[in-house]
Amino acid sequence: MPATNRRTKIIATLGPATESEEMLVKLIQGGVDVVRLNMAHAKHDWTRMIIRRIRAASKTAGREVAVMMDIKGPEIRTGDLEVPIELKPGEIFDFTVKPGAGRSGGEEIRSVDVNYRDLVNDIKVGDTVLVDSGLIRLEVLSKDDAHIRCRVLTPGSLTSRRHINLPGVKVNLPSFTAKDRADTLVGIAEGVDFIALSFVREASDVELLRLFLKENKSRARIVAKIEDQSAIDNLDDIIRATDVLMVARGDLGIEVPLRELPVIQRRAVRTCLAIGRPVIIATHMLESMISQPMPSRAEITDVANAVYEQADCVMLSGETTIGKYPLECVAILDSIARRIEEEQATDIPEPAVFIQERMKVFRAAVVLANEFPRSLILVFTRHGTNAAGIAAHRPPRAPILAVTDSVETLRHLRMVRSVEPYLLQEFGDPEATIERATASLLKQGRIAPGDKLVIVSDVQAKDRRIDSIQLRSVE
Ligand code: PEP
Repeated sequence: MPATNRRTKIIATLGPATESEEMLVKLIQGGVDVVRLNMAHAKHDWTRMIIRRIRAASKTAGREVAVMMDIKGPEIRTGDLEVPIELKPGEIFDFTVKPGAGRSGGEEIRSVDVNYRDLVNDIKVGDTVLVDSGLIRLEVLSKDDAHIRCRVLTPGSLTSRRHINLPGVKVNLPSFTAKDRADTLVGIAEGVDFIALSFVREASDVELLRLFLKENKSRARIVAKIEDQSAIDNLDDIIRATDVLMVARGDLGIEVPLRELPVIQRRAVRTCLAIGRPVIIATHMLESMISQPMPSRAEITDVANAVYEQADCVMLSGETTIGKYPLECVAILDSIARRIEEEQATDIPEPAVFIQERMKVFRAAVVLANEFPRSLILVFTRHGTNAAGIAAHRPPRAPILAVTDSVETLRHLRMVRSVEPYLLQEFGDPEATIERATASLLKQGRIAPGDKLVIVSDVQAKDRRIDSIQLRSVE
C-alpha cells in the first residue's frame, strides 16, 4: 500500500509541469497528500478550474487529497519592464514609488517602479535591498518622497515583477491584502482545505485571517508561513495562534543570516511538537531536480533531517511546478521518508507530556501501542482533534488509522504526520461503529488477523459518552 503508510506527508505545488489531469492522477497515486496553489502566479479562472480538476483526479486515483491555497501576503515586487535591465557592479539605480517618477532631473540613472508607495517611509539609508530571491543586492544611498537611490553591490539581470526582500526592515504593508481577500474568497467558494498566509509577522495576522474565514463560513485551516525576522521574534505566539506552521525557507533564507536558517528550523519544529501543531518544511528540498534526474547528496540529507526532526510535511515548489522530474521528486521524497521512519521505529522515546487531560489519555494510548510490535492505533474522530492529538505524541511505530465521517476532516488530516484517514459514513452507536470500521479495514487489507488494535473512541456510559482506550486483537 505505497501511498498510505508513509508517516511524513508530501505537499506538491502545481504549475505547468503538473496541472494536467493525467499528471495530477499520477502525483496522487505516487503519494502526494496535499496539493498547493501558489496565488502569486495564479489567476482566478485557473484557480477554479484546477481545484475542480484536483477533486476529479482524487476520485480517479481513489484517494482524496487536500488543497492548500497559498496567498501571497504583503509582498513587494518591481514593476513591468519592456526589456531586462543588466545591472552593473557599482551602478547607481533608483526604485521609484510614484508612477512616472523615473529619470529625475534628466539624470542618466536607470530605474524601476515598485508596487508599494510607503517603501520610502519604511526604508533607511544604509539598508540592503535584495531582488529576485537575493540574486541582486543593492545598498540604499539616499531617498526622497518618490525615489530610493541605491548602489548595486551584486549585479544581475533585472526582469519584470521580481520579488523584493528587505532584511531587517519592518514593512508596514497590511498582512492580509486586498488581493489576498479576493483570492481567499475564490478558495472558500471552491472549498479549499487550507489557506497558507505568507509573511505572517505576528499572531494577530493569523487572527485576522481566522476572523475572515469565520465571517465567510469557511472551515479551512490556517497555515502560517514564517519568512522574516519579525516572525522569528514572535514565533511562539504565531505557533499558538495558527493551525499549521510552514518554515518557508526560501524567503527566510534571504531575510535572516544564512547560518540562522537551520537553527530556526529546529526551534520551529521543536516548538510545534511541544504544543502539537503540524509543521511543514518547505523550499529547495530537491531543488537540483528541477533540471536533473537525481538529487544532490546534500538534498537527500536535508530531506532526511526534516524526517528525523519529525516534521509533519515536506514540500516541493519549483520541483513540481516547472521541473522536468516532478514524479521522480515525489518518489524520492517518499523513499527517503520511509527509510528514515524505519530507523525511527526502533528508537522509542517516551512520548511528550501535555497538560490537557485529553492529551494524557492519548499519551496512554501511545504508550500502550508501543508495547506491541504489531499494533495500530484506531481513532474515531469527527473534527480531527483526537487524531491530531494522538499524532502530537509521535507514536514511533504504530500508524494512526483515523476513521472519520467527514470528508473535510479526512482532507485536513492529510497534513498530519502518521495519520492515515479513512471515511466511514455515518457514525452511530460506538460499538457498531468500531465493528464496521474494523470490518472495512480488514477488507481493504490494512489490518490483518493477529494485529493489536489500540482503539480510542467514545463509549456510552449511562447518559453520557466518555473517552476510552481499548485493546483488541484482530480476528
Ligand atoms: C518560501 O519562501 O519558502 C515559500 C514557500 O514561499 P513562496 O514560495 O510563496 O515565496
